[in-house]
Amino acid sequence: MEIEIRGIHKSFQGTAALLPTDITLRHGQFTTLLGPSGCGKTTLLRMIAGLEQPDGGEIYAEDRCIYSVHQRVDVPVHKRNFGMVFQDFALWPHMTVYENVAFGLKAAKHKADLRQKVTEALAMVRLQGMENRYPHQLSGGQQQRVAFARAVAIRPALVLFDEPLSALDAVLREEMRIEMMSLVKDMGLTALYVTHDQVEAMSMSDEIVVMRKGEVLQRGTPETIYEAPSHPFVASFIGKSNWLTPDQTMVRPEHVTWNRSSTEDLCYQATVLSVSYVGERYEIRLQLDESDNKWTAYLDKRVVIGERVNLYVSPRCICRMDEG
Ligand code: ADP
Ligand code: MG
Repeated sequence: MEIEIRGIHKSFQGTAALLPTDITLRHGQFTTLLGPSGCGKTTLLRMIAGLEQPDGGEIYAEDRCIYSVHQRVDVPVHKRNFGMVFQDFALWPHMTVYENVAFGLKAAKHKADLRQKVTEALAMVRLQGMENRYPHQLSGGQQQRVAFARAVAIRPALVLFDEPLSALDAVLREEMRIEMMSLVKDMGLTALYVTHDQVEAMSMSDEIVVMRKGEVLQRGTPETIYEAPSHPFVASFIGKSNWLTPDQTMVRPEHVTWNRSSTEDLCYQATVLSVSYVGERYEIRLQLDESDNKWTAYLDKRVVIGERVNLYVSPRCICRMDEG
């Protein structure tokens, strides 16, 4: 199912939370909205879900209009056939695992084969045998799996995630990241995932939509976003960036070398500020001579703080950005 969002926008008390935005969610693709807190990610997600009323614009699911101010169409939440997973899991505390998952199916009018559908959904998230437990008897990771099972049991046309892993600790978060991504892919679901965590976005997504202050700055594959950021904010928000003066140009740390490999290479003098062993290699922070800019580079041997070094950058590896 392809979801088409056209010109959707929203203000709260006269302040724009989301400027007019176009996004296409392609069938079977995992798309992530990435941006700092307050940039409008949740607002956009809630409008797609039908939980928040847009000020204008249109939403299409395949060729069916599900929201349009002009056409006076506003398909209610439960008729959009979208699954939702939130940060706080939003499980019903007084219902068992089975009842939580069944509730979603009943609400979506999947009454036939209810037991079988619940069982399948719980098996998918490896929670067989936990049917009669209550949410408080489960770990955070298990609760989030129940929330996921409930969301996907209805075989949704689109599954919406709003920072679903933020409440989990770092190790579990990484595990669940891989698990959720695999499940979404195995089921062939179309997914829209919201996060402020760039590592999560980079590792899970087919496509990333980078947002700032209610606006989409860039969209593309993780590789494109990292290797060819089109906006200085995107370059800074995702990965480490070494800025070159005076223009809006930037080089990634892995393209800073310590030996000149070609006569074309640009040379920068710098002083070592700090050395951190990060496993396999050292991450070096450097102060450039020619500007106030501090850089990051990687090296396979230890250097000494205060050491003077020459750094080389191939002009081919420099990213140029249009906007400031
Ligand atoms: P994000 O999910 O990216 O952190 P949100 O979509 O939650 O951002 O919020 C975007 C902006 O809209 C913020 O400035 C936020 O304070 C504001 N906002 C969101 N929901 C409401 C609301 N119900 N009433 C007033 N302001 C809101
Ligand atoms: Mg949010």
